[in-house]
Amino acid sequence: MRGVVFRGNRILETLNFEDPIPGPGEAVVEIKASGMCGSDLHYYRGQPSQIIKSLGLKGFEERGLPADAPIIAGHEPCGVIAAVGPGVDPASFRVGDRVIVFHYEGCSHCDHCRTGWTQMCDHGADIHGVVKHGAHADYMRVPVSTLVHLPDEISFIGGAAIACGTGTAYGAIGRLNLSARDTLAVFGLGPVGLSAVQLAAAMGIETIGIDIAADRVENAKSFGAAHVINGSEKDPVEEIRKLTKGKGVTCSIECAGGDVAKQQAVSSTAPWGRIALVAISGNLNVAAMKDVIGKQRTIIGSYTFSEVGMKDCATFIASKGVDVDRLFTDRWKLDDAELAYREFDKQAGGKGVFVF
Ligand SMILES: [Zn+2]
Ligand SMILES: [Zn+2]
Repeated sequence: MRGVVFRGNRILETLNFEDPIPGPGEAVVEIKASGMCGSDLHYYRGQPSQIIKSLGLKGFEERGLPADAPIIAGHEPCGVIAAVGPGVDPASFRVGDRVIVFHYEGCSHCDHCRTGWTQMCDHGADIHGVVKHGAHADYMRVPVSTLVHLPDEISFIGGAAIACGTGTAYGAIGRLNLSARDTLAVFGLGPVGLSAVQLAAAMGIETIGIDIAADRVENAKSFGAAHVINGSEKDPVEEIRKLTKGKGVTCSIECAGGDVAKQQAVSSTAPWGRIALVAISGNLNVAAMKDVIGKQRTIIGSYTFSEVGMKDCATFIASKGVDVDRLFTDRWKLDDAELAYREFDKQAGGKGVFVF
């Protein structure tokens, strides 16, 4: 089978791998859609084994892998089960089932793994597409414990969205315990922020979308933002006050990255405001009393989602008919991976996906 490997320094290779065979408790998924993610660019631009080390993740060395081991990229997998290994209960998963893969694997017995948060495994999580083979390939071998059924209402590319960006937005919304009583500001309107806008709108929440790129600001309206603000033209905090009768929003989600948006996400909320930080780059610099304690605000760090959270997200999207396919602006064939990442590297467009 084919598999796309990041070699670092913007070099990418499509290599031939043996077709995987499922071991006990495993399945082989025939990939139908594999999303391209902003986080892929770190591994595309840098040396994957070095990047992993710098992020403090359990890397190649700890696994006894050489620094240049060819690991297949892609961590937003969706497809159909092509084969199952011994010991897989047919009542759970069978050949032909449409599935999304939860792209982290853990020890399966620590508290985090038991509660479905395998990315936080006490023994260090394995991330598919980073240290274990991912979905930019014809097939992918995974434990069935990482699989979630894809509802019939959702397309394969929709499943790929849920596997990462949309699932992350849904996770943050859940952590904030948002309801239709809230007003929400979403900072950063890339795939995660846009998903937050779209999901919040489907929940009946009045949402304000903020970005510094004019085309992203304009685009957010069609995803259900009640109001949009171009942060390069106007001060978002001031504008949000105007839109909320001087109060501020009850909640905000920060998906932009950098320091400024994080501060604005805090400052734009009313007293008792709840803030979810999602973008991993940048620092939060706030005054403890003036910005947090005196305002009775709650600041949450929200790192992706759990296995059960991914399933909840799929169920919600299916039942509300949320058109997540619209998040993808570019569809590619795996053989065009080199061009796909060269274009994606410019960060001028939207979100890409490989379709099979
Ligand atoms: Zn991703
Ligand atoms: Zn664990």
